[in-house]
Amino acid sequence: MPLFLYNTLNRRKEEFKLIKAGEVGLYTCGPTVYNYAHIGNLRTYLFEDFLVRVLGYNGYLIKHVMNITDVGHLTGDMDMGEDKMETGAAREGKSAWEIAAFYTEALKKDLAALNIQEPNIWCKATENIPEQIDLIKILEEKGFTYRTSDGIYFDTSKIQKYNKLSHLPLEDLREGARVEKNPEKRNLTDFALWKFSPDASTGVKRQMEWESPWGVGFPGWHIECSAMSLKFLGEELDIHCGGIDHINIHHTNEIAQSEAATGRPFFNYWLHGAFLNIAGGKKMAKNDNNFLTLGKTFTERGINPLAYRFAALQVHYRKPMEYSEKGMDQAALGYSSLLNQVAALGRDLGEVSLEWREKFLAVINDDLNLPKALAVVSTLLKSKLSAPDKLATVLDFDKVLGLSLDKAGANVSAAIEIEQLPADVRELVEKRQAARAEKNWAEADRLRPLIEAAGYEIKDTSTGSQVFKN
Ligand code: AMP
Ligand code: ZN
Repeated sequence: MPLFLYNTLNRRKEEFKLIKAGEVGLYTCGPTVYNYAHIGNLRTYLFEDFLVRVLGYNGYLIKHVMNITDVGHLTGDMDMGEDKMETGAAREGKSAWEIAAFYTEALKKDLAALNIQEPNIWCKATENIPEQIDLIKILEEKGFTYRTSDGIYFDTSKIQKYNKLSHLPLEDLREGARVEKNPEKRNLTDFALWKFSPDASTGVKRQMEWESPWGVGFPGWHIECSAMSLKFLGEELDIHCGGIDHINIHHTNEIAQSEAATGRPFFNYWLHGAFLNIAGGKKMAKNDNNFLTLGKTFTERGINPLAYRFAALQVHYRKPMEYSEKGMDQAALGYSSLLNQVAALGRDLGEVSLEWREKFLAVINDDLNLPKALAVVSTLLKSKLSAPDKLATVLDFDKVLGLSLDKAGANVSAAIEIEQLPADVRELVEKRQAARAEKNWAEADRLRPLIEAAGYEIKDTSTGSQVFKN
């Protein structure tokens, strides 16, 4: 069955065709590691994980590359302001390298909690500086660059279709760029390829800087994604993804500089995920105080983070998703109910139903229509198929959904994992478990109200005690 994906480049659903038989080359723009990921960022990584799984379900092998931006992303997207990594380091009194390592690990934990598969290749901007310098040299030789007092810039007036991804009139793109004034730029849309470190006379010393043919400094934000996708994917520039905020600047500039350097198309399919919004349509952003982490929203409230994955499956990736505590609680209930229905099927594994598989494939191959895929699951569970066949089929679908349905009824539920409880509650729960193991029922009964007073409910089952948030 053909797979259709909505290509931002042409603003329509297109049948997916590989450039080269073999693997799909997929590049997803990764995090700037100066802070925790918020659940908006995680929505984008979930959408990309759904894409990877849908490709896998269709039998494709995938080479997935994701970068880690650990230098050069300035507070303004148009090359003005401070380097986010250096501000993160100043905020926490650590080195920029320590900040990068810490938040990269934090992100990996969030990905694991959401069953998001890690890419085949993680690549860091700071570990690919020579490749970025080489690409800038090519652009310089071809006459696309110019020098200002603070860096080397790309001249966007030198290329034919600077707006091929945004589809916006050049005037509007220029207007968008006007917010960050740099009088030395030839065109408002021009962007930095290499920025110079501040002059010694300013007394400001950057932690991250490198020698280059143009002077000591650091790469601009956009060049890293071009250099690393060309390095790791080479010819197989199939699909490039990110959030919709990347369309007009970051991805537009990646295309401009890559196509200028190589003279050939840079990625055939561009897919973009819509935002997670909060408080009536406002984008969740790291520099706003509307920033919610996975821990704060789920784990610390006693909800299994996979409820967020379930919530993300309920909204098509090109539609905005609105965050509310109530909405997330409803998703947790929906997820629990699905787990219960799967658990009720028993443990006997029958055969995958080809008829249901077709129905599932038809909706996921229609530009990842996962809300409809969940509807297929729910009709399947109500159907007349035998329980063992239902189980085999739903577990097959879970290769795409990633909801740990194979563990339904065992150790996955909407209950909170003991390790994720606040330390004081965890101590009480562990003491109570020890008491129960010793059949010291009096002690177990003494501890229960203490746990309840902390806002948790405890249910004893044959396989142990489960803790829920009240
Ligand atoms: P950043 O770490 O800010 O560079 O962003 C990492 C990824 O998250 C990018 O693909 C962004 O487009 C995406 N992103 C940022 N904010 C949101 C949001 N509120 N909802 C969904 N995706 C977002
Ligand atoms: Zn990027």
